Amino acid sequence: MATAATPATNMAMMKPCISSSRKVFMSSAASFSTESKEASWNRLTSSSHISSRQPFFESIFSGPIKFKKVVTRAMSAANENKPLPGLPVDLRGKRAFIAGVADDNGYGWAIVKSLAAAGAEIIVGTWVPALNIFESSLRRGKFDESRVLPDGSLMEITKVYPMDAVYDSPDDVPEDVKSNKRYAGSSKWTVKELVESVKQDFGSIDILVHSLANGPEVTKPLLETSRNGYLAAISASSYSFVSLLKEFVSIMNPGGASISLTYIASERIIPGYGGGMSSAKAALESDTRVLAFEAGRKHKIRVNTISAGPLRSRAAKAIGFIDMMIDYSSANAPLQKELSAEEVGNAAAFLASPLASAITGAVVYVDNGLNAMGVGVDSPIFVDLDIPKDN
Ligand code: NAD
Repeated sequence: MATAATPATNMAMMKPCISSSRKVFMSSAASFSTESKEASWNRLTSSSHISSRQPFFESIFSGPIKFKKVVTRAMSAANENKPLPGLPVDLRGKRAFIAGVADDNGYGWAIVKSLAAAGAEIIVGTWVPALNIFESSLRRGKFDESRVLPDGSLMEITKVYPMDAVYDSPDDVPEDVKSNKRYAGSSKWTVKELVESVKQDFGSIDILVHSLANGPEVTKPLLETSRNGYLAAISASSYSFVSLLKEFVSIMNPGGASISLTYIASERIIPGYGGGMSSAKAALESDTRVLAFEAGRKHKIRVNTISAGPLRSRAAKAIGFIDMMIDYSSANAPLQKELSAEEVGNAAAFLASPLASAITGAVVYVDNGLNAMGVGVDSPIFVDLDIPKDN
């Protein structure tokens, strides 16, 4: 039940002592060019896993001391005035709205973290029934450990908005939902109202992430799914993306990007992923292509979806077979490791960044390669094949 009188909570106000990750990122980038030669060299050696106490060049070259000095000075000087080497995912100056964040276990949270680590300002949309617990957990510091970014700062969420992505405007909301006590304390949570609030508060966004799904009959085989259950899955898991993009696109800056999350059950049979959820993911992927064309032509916005491997999120645990899917992936995927939410978050940050400026309309697999397999190699049928595997 939501208790807040205001429809949204400003986390920056709640945690004034926590510095903005964006600011921290920017200030550390700015300080790079002015750091001392000694600091520059220390960072160079530590990032290269070279001990500054044990002379590196001495261990490789047995040449004279004069030679060592020349090389050392040349490297320090070369690094003083240059930007960080490499090809960084840089989202400084970008604002991202992430729909579908209600705890620190799911893909939404991981994407928030990666976008924040790349310098984006973060605003999120949280499903109304989950809002109260999410906000109070944030306030009480329950997520502080998982808010730590790679540079040591704490990820900041500028604002949390209540939302329910199955309703476009107040006229669509049935009486029983309006009077439901879990909704009573919040307002302006339909898609159109939400986007209007974001427009009033921030003016524009650059990145839209849809990380939500719901299928009330997901545990039922498709053959036993009701019409209502099927349509509810499509409404919450596919049309919700169309609706969000449709409303947000008018306040998205040209060059912006949108990303949703899909699952391989859209194109291959995954027994147990029922209730029309496989159909909803197929629709989401098809819509990704059509919307990429429409939003690309009209608004210069990119539209992609990440087909993610199994993660033990709250929603996935509710389906009931997530541990089996994780084990299956470890046994059969080309990469035999458990997928981390961070790997999906990092892919999302890349897709949202200018580095992916020519990628749109794509289904990007982040699943340890499981999608590429044609057979399950853990079948006893293959016992005599010499297949490399971790124990
Ligand atoms: P999650 O529980 O973290 O996220 C689902 C979110 O959807 C929750 O925050 C929930 O509150 C929200 N939500 C549900 N109905 C809503 C509505 N009507 N309006 C607004 N929000 C609503 O679980 P997750 O597994 O991280 O799911 C995120 C996305 O990732 C989903 O699209 C899911 O299908 C996809 N995905 C998950 C897996 C997996 O194994 N976990 C694999 C592939 C794809």
